[in-house]
Amino acid sequence: MTGKEAHYMYKAVMDEHLSGNGPFTKQCQHFFEDRYGFKKCLLTTSGTDALEMCAMLCDLKQGEEVIIPSYTFVSTALAFLREGAKVVFADSMKRNPNIDVELLESLITPRTKVIVPVHYAGVACDMDAIMDIANRHNLLVVEDAAQAIDSYYTSHTTHQTLPLGSIGHLAAFSFHETKNITAGGEGGLLVVNDERFIRRAEIIWEKGTNRAEFFRGAVNKYGWVDMGSSFLPAEINAAFLWAQLENLDEIQSKRKQLWDTYFNHLKPFADKGCFQLPDLPEYASNNAHMFYLVLPDLEKRTTLIKFLKEHDIQSVFHYLSLHSSAYYEDKHDGRQLPECERYADTLMRLPMFYDLETEEVEKVCGVIKEFVANRE
Ligand SMILES: *Cc1c(COP(=O)(O)O)cnc(C)c1O
Repeated sequence: MTGKEAHYMYKAVMDEHLSGNGPFTKQCQHFFEDRYGFKKCLLTTSGTDALEMCAMLCDLKQGEEVIIPSYTFVSTALAFLREGAKVVFADSMKRNPNIDVELLESLITPRTKVIVPVHYAGVACDMDAIMDIANRHNLLVVEDAAQAIDSYYTSHTTHQTLPLGSIGHLAAFSFHETKNITAGGEGGLLVVNDERFIRRAEIIWEKGTNRAEFFRGAVNKYGWVDMGSSFLPAEINAAFLWAQLENLDEIQSKRKQLWDTYFNHLKPFADKGCFQLPDLPEYASNNAHMFYLVLPDLEKRTTLIKFLKEHDIQSVFHYLSLHSSAYYEDKHDGRQLPECERYADTLMRLPMFYDLETEEVEKVCGVIKEFVANRE
């Protein structure tokens, strides 16, 4: 919380517009469109919902294929699976958990329709390479930018710096409480960059009706015209989000300061080979969504998490591979995804949130230093 969240929620209540698409929703959507140049923004009740809208907009036929990294949250895959698509899981890079573009082209078949890059930890995927492959094969690109608010990609070819979420045809952000900014616990954003999808996105958002066109005066009554669902958040959530957006720069600068403190204190141990630190390719900016370590093996990660816990520090590992999950294992084509498995076994996240203090980060680093010293 940065100060005005409860105030704006109270205002939403007193102004008596509580259902979706009210003044706070519109204000938030315009903020994103203005600040990041996104063509059309629609707030959703979660990042998962925004991904589900993306999947619906891709208009997949049964069995068409969608390429998704295996090292991601369940929702990335589930959104497309529910539309009848076949999910083809891709491996991560050696240098960071993002999708390995070197392997991407070998996964494309005549049935491939969509590529879903996930900007893990808010760090950009290699979007020039991904957009180039997508253009050559006539594929859609949906950015899972759930962790990537206020993060950027610099193109190798045009040298332009572009906000993540503005590059693919569609993108999804999350405002869950674990992300950099939150809409009061749960929330998300659909971004439509390709104008062909705007009209249908508004219809899907409003339960399959052309209500948006009716309110603009484009039609004189509204009705059921397509598929859809109820994807709009309540105004109370948009009001909470608005308070966070007013302080976005402050939130981001605090997070980056914490991130840098971790990095500077832990770099010497990474240089000695104790663990790998977050990797920022030359084309990626840092939105300080997460600070993670990659340990040499599972046993070392388990003991470090335990050691931190003994010092009252909560650290957690992250995704389990989706391709070998209980739900998907027998649907997967059997390919090994070694980098994904490595991150599943060895990546761990250190505390990172707006209220955290620099001294606390230093304390965490001190405990890690002690752990390393004990094992030398
Ligand atoms: C958080 C997250 C989601 C889901 O967002 P929710 O708002 O929790 O539904 C999807 N993909 C990734 C990569 C995420 O980190």
